[in-house]
Amino acid sequence: MEDAPYLVALNLTRRCNLRCAHCYLDAGARDKADPEELTTAEACALIDDIAGLSDETMVVLTGGEPLLRRDLERIAAHAAGLGLMVVVGTNGMALTERRVAALRQAGVQGVGISVDSLDPGRHDAFRGLPGGFARTMDGIDACRRAGLGFQIHFTVTDETADELDAMIAFARSCGAIALNVFFLVCTGRGRHVSNISRAGYDRTLRRLTLAARDTEGIMIRAKCAPHFKRMAIELDPDWPITMAHGYDAGGCLAGTRYARVTPEGEVTPCPYMELGAGSIRDRGFAEIWRDAPVFERLRARRLGGRCGVCEYAKVCGGCRARPFAATGDMMGEDTLCAYQPSGAQVIPDVPEAAPAVDWTPAARTRLDRVPPFVRRFVRQRAEAFARENGCDAVTAEHLEALARQRFAAGASPSRPFLTGVQTGSGERHDLG
Ligand code: SF4
Ligand code: SF4
Repeated sequence: MEDAPYLVALNLTRRCNLRCAHCYLDAGARDKADPEELTTAEACALIDDIAGLSDETMVVLTGGEPLLRRDLERIAAHAAGLGLMVVVGTNGMALTERRVAALRQAGVQGVGISVDSLDPGRHDAFRGLPGGFARTMDGIDACRRAGLGFQIHFTVTDETADELDAMIAFARSCGAIALNVFFLVCTGRGRHVSNISRAGYDRTLRRLTLAARDTEGIMIRAKCAPHFKRMAIELDPDWPITMAHGYDAGGCLAGTRYARVTPEGEVTPCPYMELGAGSIRDRGFAEIWRDAPVFERLRARRLGGRCGVCEYAKVCGGCRARPFAATGDMMGEDTLCAYQPSGAQVIPDVPEAAPAVDWTPAARTRLDRVPPFVRRFVRQRAEAFARENGCDAVTAEHLEALARQRFAAGASPSRPFLTGVQTGSGERHDLG
């Protein structure tokens, strides 16, 4: 049986209170709910199906603007009640005190809020609404006051790449758990937005990788930029992130550990790939996840072009949405990567099923307190650490030692942090 997804993004609506230039859903203001949108009952049945695969899966509720759905909290509470980790991806403008309290009560563990520039005029121009920046800042304040964890999502283009350091400082100072930096994939309205150049991408990603390793007090990650993994290995092969699996570790999980469901119920490998694997109105999500040919192709990972001969093919593998958008071949080379494979031996992926390591009861208790989505990453790292130290069991002391090493760039193993993924109409969320 196929492994369960780490992450499923549910685009609950195409409605939005903004009109972002880069929106891949082509969402926009609409007064009434689209009759094609999944109903509350359909969304909850979908979540039942996801939970049936694994209760460690993270569900990201996003849009459009998900806060425009009045049943958002009901859907979130349903998922949380099944033990799933639930996060919401939003532009932050409707995060009033009352709504933040309702999300918390529903069991939402965090929100991802998009900030495209620290210059209000630039942010508003990008988002298509004067005054949007101020309202998003109010939403961030409301989360902070209520103690609802949040992360900042920053989409980099050539125009905003110079803001990276300032955005890191802002995210730290406003109390965000993480800063996720996204790189556009040219689909939807985003196909007309000037993207980042290959050179700009390379430069920004290199700077980001350094900041991700060296910045304390906040987790910084590149999202939908799998070469982050290559750069991490080039920078520091011993950095735990180079050993880790999962979206948090920087690679692309589209179709292998990640899927998205459109507002109408179509399952796709990721929000940027309009490549339907089947509709949950015809078949259950679990069945689509297991059997759809699109997913089978992605899992077989027969890559073309430079990706196919690259020594980083296993740890990076490139974005599949970019070649699909550019050429229609999702297994082609990642068009935004500037790297020329050297002909060196392929760097092996770290096997997920490494030799068994036990957990002492005290360590197990501590692991159980880690949020489900992060737990997998913490478990892998702790087991690797125990093995490196010649032990056949993870102890509480091992976890302490890892915490002291600023595990995962500043986030301690017991600290709930989110991941970020591209999931909404220009909102980039986790996830993760
Ligand atoms: S294929 Fe999708 S999930 Fe993977 S890196 Fe590209 S945009 Fe992100
Ligand atoms: S060529 Fe492909 S696999 Fe190699 S680093 Fe670039 S995107 Fe990754």
